Amino acid sequence: MSPSVVIAIDGPAGTGKSSVARGLARALHARYLDTGAMYRIVTLSVLRAGIDLADASAIADAARRVDLAVGFDPDEDRSYLAGEDVSAEIRGDAVTKAVSAVSAVPQVRARLVELQRELASAPGSVVVEGRDIGTVVLPDADVKIFLTASAEVRARRRTDQNIANGRPADYDAVLADVKRRDHLDSTRAVSPLRAADDAIVVDTSEMNQDEVVTYLTELVAQRAGVSR
Ligand code: C5P
Repeated sequence: MSPSVVIAIDGPAGTGKSSVARGLARALHARYLDTGAMYRIVTLSVLRAGIDLADASAIADAARRVDLAVGFDPDEDRSYLAGEDVSAEIRGDAVTKAVSAVSAVPQVRARLVELQRELASAPGSVVVEGRDIGTVVLPDADVKIFLTASAEVRARRRTDQNIANGRPADYDAVLADVKRRDHLDSTRAVSPLRAADDAIVVDTSEMNQDEVVTYLTELVAQRAGVSR
């Protein structure tokens, strides 16, 4: 049997990170942990409670009480808030717009980072996807990957995804949102989005998803001695 390996995948929205992380987990027969989904579940609970997004202490309080769970199957997107399946709702516009504000609250991050470490430490290989996995959550991960792509390429991908999912698609609005989230995520005081010093930076602008997964699977095999 192959040895267990812990893989951190970070990077901004629209780099294909989620599809790539799932593809890599599948190729390695590893569990997959989507930390963005966890921030989205907390955000949904904040929105449902009618909390003002400027009220950090009310957000911190909600995060302390939130009952959340996520699945580990790369082929099934499963997110739960107090036992309710909210997998679709957390991908909607309301949550997407509010999530940066919620994830900037230090107590939210502290609670989720602790939970993420606990979930990642279960036996077996795991691919953990997020923004601060290699830098904060799992600084000792066996392999750290940081995906990048130009803002324009990322906005184009997001727009195409919206069209495929039957959602409204306005490229200029998506590009503005990509840039807004990049800025918020990279300038926040706690855990700003950046590559770990020992991360392998991969620019996916000119690569399709399959090419990235193949490249990363080989890279993991080399770095961690894991075969497919
Ligand atoms: O990956 P996804 O786009 O679902 O993440 C949603 C948001 O959650 C990000 O824009 C970011 O604000 C936040 N996030 C974070 N740290 C993580 C994962 C996500 O701050 N590890």
